[in-house]
Amino acid sequence: MMYNNKYDIIIIGGSYSGLSAAMSLGRSLRHVLVIDSGLPCNRQTPHSHNFITHDGEKPAVISAKAKTQVEFYETVSFYNGLAISAIKTESGFEIETQSGKIFTSKKLLFATGIKDLLPDIPGFAECWGISVLHCPYCHGYEVKKEKTAIVANGDMGFEFSKMISNWTKDLKLINNGKSTLTAEQTQILKTHKVEIIEDEIESLEHQNGNVQQIIFKNQTKIAVKAIYFKAPFEQHCPLPKSLGCELTENGLLKVDAFQKTTIPGVFASGDCHIQARSVAMAVSSGSFAGAMINKEIIDEEFV
Ligand SMILES: Cc1cc2nc3c(=O)[nH]c(=O)nc-3n(C[C@H](O)[C@H](O)[C@H](O)COP(=O)(O)OP(=O)(O)OC[C@H]3O[C@@H](n4cnc5c(N)ncnc54)[C@H](O)[C@@H]3O)c2cc1C
Repeated sequence: MMYNNKYDIIIIGGSYSGLSAAMSLGRSLRHVLVIDSGLPCNRQTPHSHNFITHDGEKPAVISAKAKTQVEFYETVSFYNGLAISAIKTESGFEIETQSGKIFTSKKLLFATGIKDLLPDIPGFAECWGISVLHCPYCHGYEVKKEKTAIVANGDMGFEFSKMISNWTKDLKLINNGKSTLTAEQTQILKTHKVEIIEDEIESLEHQNGNVQQIIFKNQTKIAVKAIYFKAPFEQHCPLPKSLGCELTENGLLKVDAFQKTTIPGVFASGDCHIQARSVAMAVSSGSFAGAMINKEIIDEEFV
């Protein structure tokens, strides 16, 4: 084990948000280590949309270009691997990786994202990000006016149907079990010709992730081009919790207006704390987190 790898800041998570923070910090002459395990949440999506200058680009192309630009700053280093423990020390933090490397820093930034928890329905995971979609702003334009299903129930099913009806009127709401919509919600959906289906889904028939049909347990089928689904999620990385960082009731990291978590010296940016996830939001909060971490170090040292 090595204990001589000292940095000003360790960023855990080197996707859009972590790289954006690394750029702010590299440009602030800070010694930064970015540790990344290479599993961004959008890795199965063929095209990423709604991020200006990169609309329609492959997700990995955007992050590769970002990394190339950050590599220009000589005080930023990269480590490919998984951070498996984080300990608070007298002078900051000690991070251990799966391969047994130990790195230390004054400050810590989590840009570790979230993990979507997909239902155990054959075909669902294969279609995730290709034709099973989480967000109309990211992917709705490409399937506008197409036969579309939403898999949801209750208030979420109602609100999601209302939202997606902006992109298509050919819409079915699949409750995947008994409806928990209110009578009023059911009536409004009927008025807008959103068919409500309570049958349970058996599987998705698809070709290379492009859904063709939803097969129900009663063996009925419907043809669709797209499915929307808001996946439950968990934090991708357990280390913020192990350090004592508080979560919101929705399972996101709690941060203040300066990207600080509830543990001094620990910051967060990107999906791990943002409700409305997008590449643009991840980049924005990473850039701001970098500036706020730099300011905190300046304030501590310029006394
Ligand atoms: C299927 C899908 C499609 C999407 N499509 C779009 C789109 O078209 N347009 C758009 O704007 N947004 C889209 N999004 C949202 C967008 O992908 C996210 O908002 C964005 O990726 C968040 O960036 P991030 O850096 O916060 O997290 P992520 O991109 O998820 O990256 C987190 C990184 O942290 C690493 N990590 C986690 N734990 C550890 C650890 N312990 N040690 C080391 N590394 C760790 C992971 O390996 C990963 O590389 C999509 C999301 C999904 C799920």
